[in-house]
Amino acid sequence: MAEARTVAFHTLGCKLNFSETSTLSRLLENEGFEKKQFDENADVYVINTCSVTDNADKECRQLVRRIQRRSPESMVVITGCYAQLKPKEIASIPGVDLVLGAAEKFNLPSHIRELTKGDSALISSCDIAEVSGFNASWSVNDRTRTFLKVQDGCDYNCSFCTIPMARGKSRSDTITNVVQHAYDLAAKSVREIVLTGVNLGDFGKGADGSKKHDESFFDLCQALDAVEGIDRYRISSIEPNLLTNEIISLVANSSKFMPHFHIPLQSGSNDILSLMRRRYKRELYTERVSLIKKLMPHAAIGVDVIVGFPGETDDHFKETFEFLHSLDISYLHVFTYSERDNTHALDIKPVVPVHVRNERNKSLRNLSYMKMQYFTELHKGQTRKVLFEGHSKNGMMEGYTDNYIKVSTPHRDEWVNQLVDWTV
Ligand code: SF4
Repeated sequence: MAEARTVAFHTLGCKLNFSETSTLSRLLENEGFEKKQFDENADVYVINTCSVTDNADKECRQLVRRIQRRSPESMVVITGCYAQLKPKEIASIPGVDLVLGAAEKFNLPSHIRELTKGDSALISSCDIAEVSGFNASWSVNDRTRTFLKVQDGCDYNCSFCTIPMARGKSRSDTITNVVQHAYDLAAKSVREIVLTGVNLGDFGKGADGSKKHDESFFDLCQALDAVEGIDRYRISSIEPNLLTNEIISLVANSSKFMPHFHIPLQSGSNDILSLMRRRYKRELYTERVSLIKKLMPHAAIGVDVIVGFPGETDDHFKETFEFLHSLDISYLHVFTYSERDNTHALDIKPVVPVHVRNERNKSLRNLSYMKMQYFTELHKGQTRKVLFEGHSKNGMMEGYTDNYIKVSTPHRDEWVNQLVDWTV
């Protein structure tokens, strides 16, 4: 469809998806496409889906219906994790023209060149086991901070998770490439890079996933630490068993790696951790948090936790609550367990009633609020560096301290993309 010249994107899900959408958009802009907002008319609409959200199917249908109402002649392409997991379901949604699986995502430009509006959707997808190769991606929104993908896929098999089925085996970029991307981003005035991946600590298996960690995540951090022009790095999320003492020490001794960690816990009960097939016990988690706080008492620590996993009794939940309550952490991301096709967790009984899952979610969200308040209160009066972001909402601009306290103030142009001393 050579005449198509405008494209609009919609992204569901995580930061990785956002960074990939950004890259897809740049690929099409290089082909001469003009980018439109999703609620504007466009010749092509691309929806980058997620498999983690509960109602991926429903959301996808709604978005396609919206497009059809507005511009029935437009092409609709669906890609991302859900497209890999359920290509046929998606292809059956009226109005969808093309479904691109994980291997084909970054061949979007050539697929669009060939595309014609037909009665049924084309599916270009292969078995996830055959997905290989690594596509570097980064998001550049307002040139302040960027999410840089350095790793993709996962070789773990946590019993609740569909991500390995949607994204394939653990693959990574090389250190040389990532360092080059960091220099390129610095030249574009990016000041903060958030290192992103599915299982970031597993960095180093090469583009086809076969290498045995010739390069490690620690090596990568060390190399990035020496890049001139980038002021800040954050590690988006890292499994506790892969967050080594040397990585923690590097962050503690670096002026560029921010004292901010996000470490998935998922449950504070060893019984449940084992049912989840996680690769650590709660004792290891405590050790990691203790070392971080010993070396960096001001560090922010965020925790992912799942409530209502099958087999989680009231006592297990109490254990989790008390464990989290006792840990020196700053905030929680609370997820309510929901059933996913083809996962081992489906075989675990008894299931937790949905209303109990929701109650547990609420009590952990309250705990998170208290932890965050406490953490902020603890740093009141301290002067810390804030990197202010470019976009403003209702005349206000936002930024984060090194230790991830969110700050908001009336917009000042001269502060955009600047590190400003700020008294919390
Ligand atoms: S580590 Fe576990 S939860 Fe994370 S992507 Fe891999 S399988 Fe999923």
